[in-house]
Order: sequence, then C-alpha cells, then structure tokens
Amino acid sequence: MIALTASRLYTPLESIEQPVVMLEGAQIVEVSSRTQRPIPEGVQRVDFGDSILAPGYVDIHVHGGAGHDVMEMDTTALPAVEQLLAKHGVTSYLPTTVTASSDHTLAALDRLATAIENAERAPGSHGRRAQPVGIHLEGPFISFERRGVHPPQDLLPPTLPVFERLWQAARGHIRMLTIAPELEGARAVIVEAARCGVCVSLGHSDAKLHEARAAVEAGARHATHTFNAMRPLGHRDPGIVAAVLTDARLSADIIADGIHLDPTIVELFLKMKGPDSAVLITDATAATGMPDGHYRLGWFEVEVKNGMCTAEGRLAGSVLTMDRAVRNVTKFAGWGLQQALRLATLNPSRVVGLSHRGKLEAGCEADIVVLSPNGEVRATFIRGVRTEAGDGR
Ligand SMILES: [Zn+2]
Repeated sequence: MIALTASRLYTPLESIEQPVVMLEGAQIVEVSSRTQRPIPEGVQRVDFGDSILAPGYVDIHVHGGAGHDVMEMDTTALPAVEQLLAKHGVTSYLPTTVTASSDHTLAALDRLATAIENAERAPGSHGRRAQPVGIHLEGPFISFERRGVHPPQDLLPPTLPVFERLWQAARGHIRMLTIAPELEGARAVIVEAARCGVCVSLGHSDAKLHEARAAVEAGARHATHTFNAMRPLGHRDPGIVAAVLTDARLSADIIADGIHLDPTIVELFLKMKGPDSAVLITDATAATGMPDGHYRLGWFEVEVKNGMCTAEGRLAGSVLTMDRAVRNVTKFAGWGLQQALRLATLNPSRVVGLSHRGKLEAGCEADIVVLSPNGEVRATFIRGVRTEAGDGR
C-alpha cells in the first residue's frame, strides 16, 4: 500500500485540502484528507509537497507523437507515442485513425485492437505508457467539402456493410466514430454504431442545422473539433455549429492550442457548452514533442513550422499536448484549474463510457497526474506505476 500526499486534490468535482490517496497495486482504495484521517502505520508515504493531484488526462483524439503515427505498422510506434503522452499527464487515450485505403485501415484497426487487448491483459508490463482504451475512427465517413487533409480518394459513403467490416477488423474496440451526418446512408450507420455502444460524433461535416438535429435524434451524442472542418456558423445559415453549441444532448470537443481557434472562440465555446459538456482534445500528430520538420499522418505527409502542422496549406492536426490545453483554458477563458481539469478528465471519460477513469475515488484505476500549482506536469501514475514529467511543451 502506498499513500500519496500533496497540498490539494481535485476529484475533479470536489476539492480536497491536504489529500491522501491510498493505492494498492493498480487501484485507488481510498481518497481522504490528512485533516480527517491520519496515514495508517506501515504505509509507504510519497509526498508531493505543494503539488496538486488530479485524475490522469484522457485524450479521445490522438493520431501520434514522438515522430510516430498510430497507424504505422512498426511495433515500436505505439509505445513511443504512449510514453510521450504519459509525460504530459495522459493516462488513457483513443488512438485515432485518419482516412486511408481500405486495406491500410483494416490492418491498422487489427493492430490497434491487439494493442488494446494486450494493454488490458498485462497492466504491469504496459508500465510507463498511456493506455489505449478504444479506437476513434475519424474517417472514412466524412464530407468531401469539409475533409480537411483527409485524402479525398479514400473517403467512403457510410453504409452498414462497410461499418460492419471496420467493426469486425477492430474486434469491437471502436469507441468513437466521427461522421458527417448529411451524407447519404449516414442515418443507418449512426443508429447501428450507437446501438453497438459507440459514441457517435458529428464532424468533418457540411451539415445544415436540420441535418445535424436529425443526427442527434438518430443517436449522435458528441461533436469533433467544433468549428474546425465544419460548415461555418452564419447568422442566417446556423448550420451544424449552431446545433452543437445549443443542443444540451451533445457534448463537444475543441483543440485549444490558440491556432485552430481564436482564444475568444474558445471562450465562446466554453460559455455555451459549460463545464459539464465541453471536452478538450489534442488531435496530436507524429510531430508532437518533435522539432519542426516533415512527419506522417496516416499515409500522407505533414509539415510542421513554428508549432503549426499543415499539409498543402491546410491545418493538419496539431502538436498540442493535453497539459498545455488545460493551461490554455485557464488563460483563454479565465477558468480556474479545477474546472479546466474536468474537460480533460471526467468529461472525456463519460463521453466514451470509461467508468473507472477520469476521477479520483475508491475503486478507480490509479491513474493520477501530479501538477504544479500552475498546471505543469511533475509526474504521472498509470495504474499505480509512476513516470516522470516531460519538458512541459
Ligand atoms: Zn484528427
């Protein structure tokens, strides 16, 4: 048994002064305060001084990092990405595919399913790496007009047989599906994916308001990188963005790097979705944690210059890390750290149905991030295994 102590803890719904978190192996057995309960005799104490303890971050949109893409065939790729995530406080994540040829996609889904199953089976050997807990399928059911950098030749109209093939290749590990609801055939796929327990997310879409609302009726529950790769908000053509901002049944995520959205739009979004429904993602590519240069995203190349990731002049994912996204929310919208943390912990866990993550309470996984008072990562615990912080980029 280990007792972690620090100056404050966010569950994140509650704030606890002088906290004690008792860990037994990979699990949290108790969360309390030293002011109420002394640390039992014989328990090893690890004190983090003036630090803040929070749930490990959950990133539901990750393409890569540390020079590697999650769709790569190389078996060293995923561990490299996961070590980088851990250094930035991420303890679980959804490896995210981009549109690629059918063969490449099916092979990547099979490999990712194996990685998810191996990590689940052997927590100890997974060690100091963020855990893949499901797949986010970002293509191929997306809009040609709003495809961003997804290769147009590989986009597919949504059909049940194609969804079924993808589902089988992933052995049921798809947790999130980004889909453009205006495409012919989308409704049937939304209904079926929701029935399978997948979080259906609206994105890469040119949908008009009524098309987005119809998708919510069919079972869509979330929106992917709101504003980016979406029909823009117009005051006489409200479109999908207005549905996302006003419909309380939809949670929604944003890339809060200060590049994908103006900081004031981040503030606007947070005012509309509030602390219950807003989610932070990174949309991180292989270039994350690396110097400027050329990197791959799925099966195409992106260029990174001054922190901006592009392909053929269009934004192509980011080099954002989750710890920076959380700090940006405190800067851009003036939110306190406790509230900002919800967007990277409890909210994404709920969105994709992870029941024992994203919060600090007895019975949950011992996934914990140790933060400085300003939100810099000092250490990360993944199922009870400690790893040290990165460079804070
Ligand atoms: Zn993406």
